Parts: sequence; C-alpha cells; structure tokens
Amino acid sequence: TQAKSACQIRSTCPYCGVGCGVLLKPDDKGALDVRGDAEHPANFGRLCSKGSALGETVSLDGRLLAPQIQGQESDWDRALDLVATTFSDTLAKHGPDSVAFYVSGQLLTEDYYVANKLMKGFIGSANIDTNSRLCMASTVAGHKRAFGTDTVPGTYEDLDEADLIVLTGSNLAWCHPVLYQRILATRKKRPEQKLVVIDPRRTASCDLADLHLPLALGSDVALFNGLLAEIAKRGLVDAAFAQNVSGLEEAIATAEGEDLSVTGLSDDLLAEFYELWCATEKTVTIFSQGVNQSSSGTDKVNAITNCHLATGRIGRAGMGPFSVTGQPNAMGGREVGGLANMLACHLDIENADHRDAVRTFWDAPAMPDQIGLKAVDMFKAVGEGTIKALWILHTNPAVSMPDADRVREAIKGCDFVVVSDITGATDTARLADVLLPATAWGEKDGTVTNSDRLISRQRAALPAPGSCKPDWQQITEVARRMGFGAAFDYQSPAEIFREYAALSGIAGGFGKDFDISGLKDLSDSAYAALRPTRWPVSDGKQGGRFFADGAFFTPDGKGRMLPVTWKPPVSKVERRYPFRLNTGRIRDQWHTMTRTARSPRLSAHYAEPFLELHPEDAAERGIGPTALVEVTTPHGKAILRAMITDRITKGDVFAPMHWTGENAPAARIDALVAPVTDPISGQPESKGSVAQIKPF
Ligand code: SF4
Repeated sequence: TQAKSACQIRSTCPYCGVGCGVLLKPDDKGALDVRGDAEHPANFGRLCSKGSALGETVSLDGRLLAPQIQGQESDWDRALDLVATTFSDTLAKHGPDSVAFYVSGQLLTEDYYVANKLMKGFIGSANIDTNSRLCMASTVAGHKRAFGTDTVPGTYEDLDEADLIVLTGSNLAWCHPVLYQRILATRKKRPEQKLVVIDPRRTASCDLADLHLPLALGSDVALFNGLLAEIAKRGLVDAAFAQNVSGLEEAIATAEGEDLSVTGLSDDLLAEFYELWCATEKTVTIFSQGVNQSSSGTDKVNAITNCHLATGRIGRAGMGPFSVTGQPNAMGGREVGGLANMLACHLDIENADHRDAVRTFWDAPAMPDQIGLKAVDMFKAVGEGTIKALWILHTNPAVSMPDADRVREAIKGCDFVVVSDITGATDTARLADVLLPATAWGEKDGTVTNSDRLISRQRAALPAPGSCKPDWQQITEVARRMGFGAAFDYQSPAEIFREYAALSGIAGGFGKDFDISGLKDLSDSAYAALRPTRWPVSDGKQGGRFFADGAFFTPDGKGRMLPVTWKPPVSKVERRYPFRLNTGRIRDQWHTMTRTARSPRLSAHYAEPFLELHPEDAAERGIGPTALVEVTTPHGKAILRAMITDRITKGDVFAPMHWTGENAPAARIDALVAPVTDPISGQPESKGSVAQIKPF
C-alpha cells in the first residue's frame, strides 16, 4: 500500500517541526531500522542526527508498562475509574475551572482533539494548555494580529526559491537541521542565495552565513523597526499591495522613532543588513524561539510581519515571514484548539457564534465563554490550590516550566495528579497519584502537522508493550466513565480524524483558514494510506500559499501592520545579577531527554550540561576552561561546566535546557528562569533571565 514501501512502514519523526518522513522496518526481536523517506516532501530522504538515531531509542528499558496508583502497580479499570471519579467529584464540588489538562506537542492530532473536546465541550472549562505555550504561542498571537488567523503563509518550497534567507532567533542548523541542510543544498546549486543570521550568539547556523548580526538579546523589535523605517525611506512600500493592508502609516511612524542603539549593532552592520533586505525581493524571514520566548515575543513577530506586509513580500514564491515550530505536532495542537485561548479549527472561544457552532456540532452540554489558564498561570493556580485535579500528558513541567522548582512543589501539593507517559521515571511522573502507561512513537497511530502545514501520518511499526494504551483511548475511556459516552464512542483514530475534518468545515464556513473538510469522508483504508497533505483541503482550496490574492482573515479582509516599539526584557541586569541568561537546545538532545538520552551516539555530542561564557567574563571571575561554575538567579541555582568561548557576547551566558533531576539534579536550568510572560501570548521569557556566576 502507499503506507508501505518494500515492507517498510512510512511514518514521521517524533522530534522537531520539520516533520521528516521516515521508513520503519521492525525485526522480530523488537529492533527498528529507521531511514529517511525519499518520497516525503519535508525531507526527501534526509534525516538529522536525532532522526537517524531513532532506532536506538525504542528499547523497553525503563518503560512504564502498567498503570500505577500511588506507586503501586494496578490495572486499567481501577486506574481509569479513579481518574474519572475524582475528576467528576472535583467538578461537582468546585466547578469546571477546578480541573486542568496540561498536554504536549508530542500528542497526535487525534489525541489532542479528544482532550480538547472533553475539556472545553463536556467538562466546560478552557483549562487545557500545552507545552507548545513555551514554544510558539507568540507566533500564534502575532499571526492572529497580522492576518486575522494563525496562518503560516508560505511553504518549504519558498526556501528553495528565495534569494535571501534571514534566520532570526533560530539556530536552524541544530534545531531544524534538515531545513538547514535544504538551504545549504540550494546554496550549492545557487550560490547567489544569501543567508543572514540574527542571533546574540555565533551559533552553528552562522558557519556558512554571509552575514551575522550579534544583536543585543531581546532587541529584535528595534532591528526590524529600523528596517521598516528604511523601507519607507527608500520608497519601497508596495503601493498596490498596501491597499490590502491597514495600519501602514502608524506602524512606519512608530518605527521611525525607534532608537537603534539598543540593538548593540554597529551602523555598518545595520546598513549592510538593511541594504541586503531592501535590495532582495525574494526574502524569507525564518523565526523561532529567539523571537517567541520573550516578554515582547508577539511584538517581535509583528515587527517582522510588518516589513513583509509593507513590501508585499508575502504569499508569493520565495518570500514571506516563516515561523518554524519546535515540536512534531505543535501545529496540530494549534489547529485542534489545544491552547487555552483557542476553540478548535482556529475558531475563537470568545466569539459566541463560533462557540454555538462547535457546541452544536459536538452536542456538548457545556462550553466556556472565556479563555482558560495559560501554562504559567495554570501552574500558579495549581500551587494556590484552585486547580485540584490535573492531568499531564507527555510532558515534564517539573523540569521544563520556568521557575521549575516552584512548579514541582505545586504539582507535589496538588490534590490529584494524573500523568500519562511512556516512563514513570521523569521528575513529573514521580509526583503522580495515577500513572497511565502510554504507547510511544513507533507504536502509535495518528496524524501530525509540520511547520509548513503538511499533515503526515505517524504509523505503528511495533506492538504496544505491556498494557500501554494510546492517549486517545485513555482520554475517551475516562470521558465515557464521566458519563459522556455517546460523544466519545470512537473505535479508531480514523474515526476521530473524520469528525475533526468535518468540524473544520464549520471553520471554513466562518471564513477561517483551517479547513480540511475535503478529508472528512476518508475511508479507514484511505486514512491508513494517507500521504503527506498540506492544508487547506476543501472544495476549491488546496495546499499552496496564503495571501497571494491580498485577502486576509481579518474582519475587513486586510492584513494588519502594528505599531510596535522595543521593550527590554522584564528582568533587569543589576549589580547582584549582572549577566543575561540565555537558554536553548543542543543539536543531539530533545526536550528533557526522555528518548534521546537512550542513544549513546547522541549523548556523546555533549556528555554533560555546560555554561557558555565569554573569555573576558571568565577571566574577570577566575573561571578556567572546564571549571565548574555556580550560576544563580533570583529563582534558583545550578552547577555547570564552563565552556569559555567568544561565540557568546560579553555579559551574556548560555545554558542548554535538557538536563533533568533524573540525570543532572544540579543542572535543571528552567529552575533558574523567571516566570515572566509576554502579556499577549502568555509565552515565558525563557531567554531573558538575569544571573550571577562564580567558580564553584
Ligand atoms: Fe527529526 Fe527534525 Fe531531524 Fe527531521 S530535522 S529528522 S524532524 S529532528
């Protein structure tokens, strides 16, 4: 079948949002051969180090194979009964907002759909948020402000056709390696294609860049405002396209007043970048966590989209702003409404018509009319005791949330905590009252959406071990036990997908971008064989770029330019905390290492956590190469190995965020990060805390 190629099963890599296709070949001893799928349009056979080591990560060592209640092995009936009864009792006693789900970009779309349906339509609260809040919530908010919906305008093909690619706040070479390789392959064929990297650190992405702008951390709004002012000064505003845009004059006037000195960049560097951008029509601006993880992340996104809207460089081949997502299904979660401020299929929770339409479609007894708690506020409410029952699926907030020590204490103090995961050995799973064993990548079946709106199948190649169940089954079995049986009577992920696709037709009817109603009648066998398909998929709409026709999804149909001004990170550098702490990923680990740490090959890249610091800062503090350094912030402390390098700007330090209480208790970096958020998106400022360092 199309799902198989010479006895190999087609699936999708479970790591980043590039969404690479893989070919899986299991043997009878439980091993899995993993190759790149040459026919998948996201990667054409390429895989990065993490993707190609997937076969090393599927052993059952350390897997959670049976439900546990209070640390004791149990069975599914008792565990699910307890979860359903406790959630129902809590609802009855304290109301819908006393419970919450914290979910993950690792969930498949079908899992996400039923979790969101249960919480919003049947429990009647919007308290479902996802770890994607830490990843791209600012992009969602910026897209909605600029375009009226959370729409990624372009596609990966634009990277092949662009004459200039700007990476801002994105170490693409390490965090989305196959996309970076795609750019390098294009540059081999077309050496005239230029690459600019905007990043406070000289990352691996700079190795082949034509220009690197080491801007001051958090100053992106000023940099792009300077660009917008330059566009206006040179008369490069596209007058015809500007008919489709509102807010142009105000945005330009605001940009013209910006103080560019806050970027810390020389006039020459600024002039070189502005010249290149202004002179190159086919420009794609790729952005990621350096833009999103900021107290002004949404404004940064809009500062970028402003430049593309002003010049009409959007919706056409080889140009546009392009957000690359961190997780394999961050996009699917956005589409399905897995964020506390979204409904489903890009419909709006605060719009009464949208709510009524979804309520009717679901035949739902309850529907919140306000947004729910976003991740940081959700765990605050857990700590304050207003959330009394919490279900966490496939994520490790006791390590990955900002102010992680406080989050760990909050979870520990919560009345009732359920964790669904593939292992019981995470910092979060150890705090669970009920642990539910879930099927892992390679065993589960469903769909994901990548950064360029491509819906791909994840397929099972290995049997579910022990009594592990897929998440959609866990959620629907709890829903049935809570008395919502008729609405959760699914027998397969294909059934869920068909319902979801049908619901998206309602969104299309409201003029929303997300419409896959063309897939609502897929037979089971067509779903099983589904090839990568870019949305929208409906009558008259198919794949492709958005906004080529200048029509946006705002009420007046115009793209919106926003007057945005630079604001510094919230935490202020001062005598006690004179350093700015930047955090991020390394090439060969993923999130809190639950899977990647199983591969010796991947763990050999960086064997232990480290702190990058500038040679002059190290010398001033008597810190020698490879010495241990104590890093302190107002929120926590870590001990890390010094990596002295001029890749980092003096006054900044950088630490990876992967290590956990399980493998490096003194290096839980998010315990040091301030729980400060962007006021619009709720995304934490994971790259802007302040710190002190000294020899350990
Ligand atoms: Fe997986 Fe991302 Fe690597 Fe592709 S680039 S193989 S999706 S981690």
